Amino acid sequence: MVRDEEPFFVDRWRDVETGNEIVNEYRLVFDFREGLFVEIVQRSIGGEFSWEVPLDNLDLESLMRLNDSGSLERIRAKVKEIMQRLAENLDSLFFDPIGDRRRSCYVCGSGALHECVRCNKDVCDQHAVFAETEYEEPLTYCHECFWKAVEDDPV
Ligand SMILES: [Zn+2]
Ligand SMILES: [Zn+2]
Repeated sequence: MVRDEEPFFVDRWRDVETGNEIVNEYRLVFDFREGLFVEIVQRSIGGEFSWEVPLDNLDLESLMRLNDSGSLERIRAKVKEIMQRLAENLDSLFFDPIGDRRRSCYVCGSGALHECVRCNKDVCDQHAVFAETEYEEPLTYCHECFWKAVEDDPV
């Protein structure tokens, strides 16, 4: 839920019987399921309570206040920003599994899920060598580079 910080309409009046001041604050709220609505918070000496009103049920005066307040533009900008952030997150969550599988082993041509750390060529399970290291994750080599690495750095 996104709530505009500023109320677009503050309605004050006095209760005829008690003489106490009553304040209604109208605030625009956006809910990702329900859409736009207005939250009205009423404050008086007796306390505070709130209720929600759909935009279609708002009286004309409140609608005109809303129109003049800039609240719609503010909340639209906020929602847009959140949607954009969500879309970026989605892109990183939904990686391209088919794209990954389309890579093929440079030795045998079957599906490659690994990449050699030395030559960056794609290799399948059969043609990959996972070399244990002391601290980190095992390093992935193709066979050719693995043997070169062993020659370069004999244990
Ligand atoms: Zn292979
Ligand atoms: Zn390699």
